[in-house]
Amino acid sequence: MNSTQLTQRWSRLPRETVRRLQAEKLRRYLRDVVVPFSAHYREIFLQHGIKADNIRTLEDLEQIPFSSKADLVNTPEHPQKSKDFIIIPDQNVLTHRPSTILRALINGREAVRRQFELEFRPIFMTSTTGRSADPVPFLYSQHDIGNLSVAGGRVMEVCGAQHDWRLINMFPYAPHLAFWLTHYASTEFGIFTLGTGGGKVMGTDGNLRLMQKIKPDVLIGMPTFLYHVLQHAVEEGHRCENLKRIVLGGEKAAEGIRRKLRNLCAKLGSPNVDVLSTYGFTEAKMAWAECPFPVDEQPTGYHLYPDLGVIEIVDPKTGVILPDGTPGEIVFTPLDHRGSVVLRYRTGDVIEGGLVHEPCPCCGRSLPRLVGKISRNSEVKSMQLDKIKGTLVDFNQLEHVLDDAPSVGAWQLELRKLKDDPMEMDELILHVHKLSDVSEEKLSRELNSRFLERTEIRPNRIVFHDADEIRQLLGVGVLLKEQKIADNRPGKAAVSSTLSSSTLSSSTSSGAAPISCEAGPASILSTSPVEVKS
Ligand SMILES: [Zn+2]
Repeated sequence: MNSTQLTQRWSRLPRETVRRLQAEKLRRYLRDVVVPFSAHYREIFLQHGIKADNIRTLEDLEQIPFSSKADLVNTPEHPQKSKDFIIIPDQNVLTHRPSTILRALINGREAVRRQFELEFRPIFMTSTTGRSADPVPFLYSQHDIGNLSVAGGRVMEVCGAQHDWRLINMFPYAPHLAFWLTHYASTEFGIFTLGTGGGKVMGTDGNLRLMQKIKPDVLIGMPTFLYHVLQHAVEEGHRCENLKRIVLGGEKAAEGIRRKLRNLCAKLGSPNVDVLSTYGFTEAKMAWAECPFPVDEQPTGYHLYPDLGVIEIVDPKTGVILPDGTPGEIVFTPLDHRGSVVLRYRTGDVIEGGLVHEPCPCCGRSLPRLVGKISRNSEVKSMQLDKIKGTLVDFNQLEHVLDDAPSVGAWQLELRKLKDDPMEMDELILHVHKLSDVSEEKLSRELNSRFLERTEIRPNRIVFHDADEIRQLLGVGVLLKEQKIADNRPGKAAVSSTLSSSTLSSSTSSGAAPISCEAGPASILSTSPVEVKS
C-alpha cells in the first residue's frame, strides 16, 4: 500500500496503516522537497546532523526541532525571515533528477517546465498576525491551492453538506485562511455560495437582506458575528426556515455559544440546526471540521486528513510526544505543502482530549481526530491578562463563564485604569446584553460568583446594554472582528478577542488594514520560473 492509498482511503484506514503510510510520505517529502529547497530547514538539518532518510517512523519526528510563530516573524536583523521558510527549487537539482528526465522524454520539456511552475511558483497568499505588528505572509503555489480545495471539500463532506444546499460565507473578506478556505471548499464541493465579506463589508443589515433573499441552508462565519446577525434577525421578526447547519470558524466556540445559536435558529423557524465547529490555522493551510452529532451529546472532535499533515500532541512544558488520548499541545507538520512550509509547528493550542484514532462513533470514519476543548494558552500570555489587578487570569476560563451563562447574550470585557490615571489600579468592566427576564441584580450576583469561582477576580462593574448599544461597543459591522476585549488603559492598544491569531482567520487585532506587503512577497514572486534545460 502506498501514499496514493493514504489519499484515496483517507477516512477508512486503521491507525497502524495510517501511521506507517504517513511516515513513508513524510520521509519522501523531506528528502525530495523540504531539505533540498527550504533555506531554513536545509540549515537546521545540517546543524543537527539529521538525514531525511533517517526519519522512518512518526516517532522519529522528535529529531526535528520545533518551529513556532516567533521563528517566522521578521526582525531588524532578519528582515526577510519568513522567506527562508519558502520552498524555492534549485533548477540544477530538479533538472538532473531521473524522474524529471524521464518525464521530459515522455511529455516534452515544455510540459515538464509548466508542471514545475504549477508546483512551485507562489501565486496566492494568506497572512497571519503575530504578537509583533508585522504580519507573516504564507504563500501558496497552484499545488497548494489544489490541496486547499481538497481540504475544503472534505470540510463539506465531514459536515454532511448536500450539493443542492445554499451557503452564505460570512467570514470577513481579507487575506485570511477562513474566507478563502470556504471559497475553495464551495467550488471544489460544488455548492451554491455567496460570500458577503462579513460585517465590515455589508454591515449586519446587508447580511440580513441577503439571508432573506438567498434563504440559505448553511451559514459559515465567526461565532460572535453569526450570533449578532441571527439575534438581529430575531429582533426584526424575520424567518429563516431552511437553515440546516451553522459552521463556525475563526475563533473558539464555547458550548454555550452553540446553544445560543441553536436557540436563535429555532426562533427563526429552523429548530434542527447542527452547529459545527472547525479548527485550523494559517500555517496549516487547511482546517478540520466536526461531523454532526446528537444535540445532547459532546462533539466527536475535529476530523483530520492523514494524507495532508501529521498532528502530534506534545507536553507543553517538555515537548515530549504524548500517547493517544492524552491532553497536550497541538503540533503540526505538513506532508505535501509547497510555498511556505513550517515543520513541527507549535500552535500553543492545548487540546483536552488529545489525539485519537478509533473510528468516529457518529460518522464511522476511521481517521485521526482531535477531541475535546481547545485552549489557546499562548494567547493568554500575549494579552498580558496576568497583569489584571495583579492576578493571573485565564481568558479561556472567562470566555467559558460568559458564553455558558444562559442569560448573557453578547458581552465585552473592558480594561481601564481607575479615573483613567496611568498610575492607578486596573479596572475590569463587564458589558452585557441580558437575554432573559432575570433581574439585573440577580444576574450581576450570579456572574460575580461565577467569575470568582473560575478566575479569582471579579469585575469592578457590570454594565447592562440593549442589543444596539452592545453592537456598537463591539464594533459589529465596523471592525473586521468584534472587540470582545477592549484594553482602554492609557498607552495600550485596543485588543480584540485574543482567540484569533492561531485560528482559521487570524484576523488583525485592531480592525485596521490587515496586511502590509512591503516585506517579501513582491521579491518572492519574482523568483525566476524553473527552467528545464536540455
Ligand atoms: Zn465523525
